[in-house]
Amino acid sequence: MPRLRQPNVEAAQWQSNGDSLGRVDLTRSDNQVFASHVFGVEVQRQRLPKDVFKRLQTTLQAGESLDTALADQIAQAMKEWALEKGATHYTHWFQPLTGMTAEKHDSFYGPAGDGSALAEFSGKELIQGEPDASSFPTGGIRATFEARGYTAWDPTSPAFILDNPNGAVLSIPTAFVSWTGEALDLKIPLLRSMSALSTSAVRALRALGDGETQRVFTTVGPEQEYFLIDEQFYYQRPDLINTGRTLYGAKPPKGHELDEHYFGSIPERVLACMLEVERQLARLGVPIKTRHNEVAPAQYEVAPVFENSNVGSDHQQLTMQMLQNVARRYGLVCLLHEKPFAGVNGSGKHNNWSMGTDTGQNLLEPGDDPSSNVRFLFFCAAVIAAVDKHQALLRASVANAGQDHRLGANEAPPAIISIFLGAELERVFAAIEAGEESPESEQSFLRMGTPVLPRLPLHGGDRNRTSPFAFTGNKFEFRALGSSHSLSLPNTVLNTIAAEAIDLLTDRLEQRVQGGTSVDDAVLEVVREVWTEHKRVIFDGDNYAEEWEQEAARRGLENLRSTPDALPWLIEDQTTRTFESYGVLTGRELEARYEVFLEQYFVKLNIEAETAASIARTMLLPAATRHLAQLRQAGVQTLVDETHELVGAFAERIRALEHANLDPGLEGMELAQYMRDTVYPAMTEVREIADRLEHIVADDLWPLPKYEEMLFIK
Ligand code: ADP
Ligand code: MG
Repeated sequence: MPRLRQPNVEAAQWQSNGDSLGRVDLTRSDNQVFASHVFGVEVQRQRLPKDVFKRLQTTLQAGESLDTALADQIAQAMKEWALEKGATHYTHWFQPLTGMTAEKHDSFYGPAGDGSALAEFSGKELIQGEPDASSFPTGGIRATFEARGYTAWDPTSPAFILDNPNGAVLSIPTAFVSWTGEALDLKIPLLRSMSALSTSAVRALRALGDGETQRVFTTVGPEQEYFLIDEQFYYQRPDLINTGRTLYGAKPPKGHELDEHYFGSIPERVLACMLEVERQLARLGVPIKTRHNEVAPAQYEVAPVFENSNVGSDHQQLTMQMLQNVARRYGLVCLLHEKPFAGVNGSGKHNNWSMGTDTGQNLLEPGDDPSSNVRFLFFCAAVIAAVDKHQALLRASVANAGQDHRLGANEAPPAIISIFLGAELERVFAAIEAGEESPESEQSFLRMGTPVLPRLPLHGGDRNRTSPFAFTGNKFEFRALGSSHSLSLPNTVLNTIAAEAIDLLTDRLEQRVQGGTSVDDAVLEVVREVWTEHKRVIFDGDNYAEEWEQEAARRGLENLRSTPDALPWLIEDQTTRTFESYGVLTGRELEARYEVFLEQYFVKLNIEAETAASIARTMLLPAATRHLAQLRQAGVQTLVDETHELVGAFAERIRALEHANLDPGLEGMELAQYMRDTVYPAMTEVREIADRLEHIVADDLWPLPKYEEMLFIK
């Protein structure tokens, strides 16, 4: 059998190899696994002394910082619980600016002095850690001579046990901060933004006549797209191993033209993998709700029920980690890159976002009649104002090298940030603007053309799949995140800019009410004003259309196609002003993020370019020349001529890429632009010929698994 076919056949074989989880009687409570590995409220109630439990809960509900006197008793209970679960170690689990999670494990056990070992875990160890963290990117915040960074316990996100076949680790979500108090991570600003938004929203609710609400939480429900491919293919591809995406690969004869994959039946091996991922996540208290096949072959999606932004972001990190870990047990590899396969749909993450009160109200819930729902209109208008003012910053919050293949390309939300409201809601705002007292809002119904099905009320959020920021019924869906993204930064931005806009609207509202206008009338006036100022950001057409780019330019909306175009908005004056005045990030902290993200961009492109050059020269060029030699031997001159020419051009372009890869002696933004404008095009040139060669070189000589193999053998 030719070289390539053998792994294909092996890849296609799959059996649950005796380790399968099996099925249990789910009506029995001892078979319920949800949150079994979480030190959550129930476990705390059972294990903490009554007064400690009470004080912990009150502090958490009030969003205050914890009395360290409680820490020892909590640590004690946590340790006992963890030991019962087989955990020998604990770790402060944190989120440095890489967007990934970091952990360093410490054993509970220390020598007892009599030759035995004793398990210990103090309140101090729970509350604060000092990882040797000098190698995390900090954007110059922390010079190495003052390299200390601290991890600090985040009691608002519960500790959990991470299982391994050979043991377990107690993982404690923590923030990561420099000794001068600057945020070195993605969690601290998220927490700061949540409390900023809460303060602004509660103030607004008071002005709207709500005397009850004490806190407002932002919520997030992410829909995560990912690919699963057989690991045999993965390990034959240095590009996937090094960069997470294929740098070569001709378009397969079959793509998603047949639309047979989306929502199709899930292949057995993949489903087995998903079931285990979800079982593991359930133990960790991650409330996974939906799973399905996505548009591209070998692409899937998983989504949880929404949670508060902090816990939801932590859970999203765990989801990505679990997808990658568990896939390996099924001979699969999970690809979270934004664009693993050229010409095939990429993977994104939809960030469903809303605001909810501690009294259980969703502030973006329109109710039965949107137009009469004053509170909804107020908060919805605030979001519109925020997104319009900070559209470029939102774009910057989802910028990375992988995203440059999606945003603006013909599949994902475009690089222009606009809002889709849906026809019904747009009519309501337009009517308010026109000063119509009670905007027409007849109930619309979705007709399904068959009398046996019930008529469904058509929600304000009828769908526009091309919009990067869509209102979908009772939440906004920010669709421009990449599949590998941490949720923290985009939600930090959303919360902060929303807080600012809510305050702005509240100022205007209060002014009018003080002047004698009724609250309802004042809200309508404020909403009218805001709508007129910001409606340029509303767009309900096809976001992929070329005309939209022109129209958006006329409206003055930013179109930031690449990461180097977008990132400077992290340090624009208006960004710094907003973030500083809400205490979310200082100018220096913003600067640090800008530097780190920019560096990640050019480093990633450099790795891609070097990998591309090396694969081309050491794998593809030899295959092509061998093929050429065979043709010569066979004496088929026309084929020799054709191939000879292509191979010559290939070698030339490889040399050009290698030349581009030489250190240009640039730094920062200039280096990023060099990567984008010189190196990336050189890679594309090489790839163009490589993909043509893939079509003509003898299959048994071609060293890389092909798209049709990776995408269709399951
Ligand atoms: P879709 O049709 O886009 O799949 P769904 O109603 O299935 O929409 O919801 C998708 C995601 O939106 C889920 O993760 C869900 O938890 C989340 N979601 C629903 N309500 C909210 C909310 N109030 N805040 C944040 N996310 C929410
Ligand atoms: Mg969705």
